[in-house]
Amino acid sequence: MSGIANILHRDTIAALVGGKAFERGQQCFRAGRVLGVEAAGGELCGLVTPQEAGRAPYEVRIWVREDGVAFECTCPIGSSRQFCKHTVAVTLAHLEKERQRAEAELVQLRDQLMSVSIKGLIEGLLDQARRDPAVHQALREVCTLA
Ligand SMILES: [Zn+2]
Repeated sequence: MSGIANILHRDTIAALVGGKAFERGQQCFRAGRVLGVEAAGGELCGLVTPQEAGRAPYEVRIWVREDGVAFECTCPIGSSRQFCKHTVAVTLAHLEKERQRAEAELVQLRDQLMSVSIKGLIEGLLDQARRDPAVHQALREVCTLA
């Protein structure tokens, strides 16, 4: 995945825009005003329905520069280079999409694991633990919980 996904965390955005703008962006996202979001080539692009009827959707573009996150939005606030709520909403839509994708992959992985024998599963896990101390520790924790 592109660098954009690693940088655009919820907390990063909240800190960047401030609590109030973040709140408004969150409302915009929850109201379902983000029409679509697409991440490609280190860029995040999205369309947001304006609150005023009859206006064309705002086009949001977010990308990463050496000095941080850069953005563009075609709304009046965004075009004055301030981080607008649409930018926040598009970011939140992207994070939600990624979360859903990751969850779907886990469901698929679950099905695949179900078809592995217990012995094969344990050998596979031990092999991972041998290479990664974090896995080793995680497996120990699983044992104490079980
Ligand atoms: Zn905007």
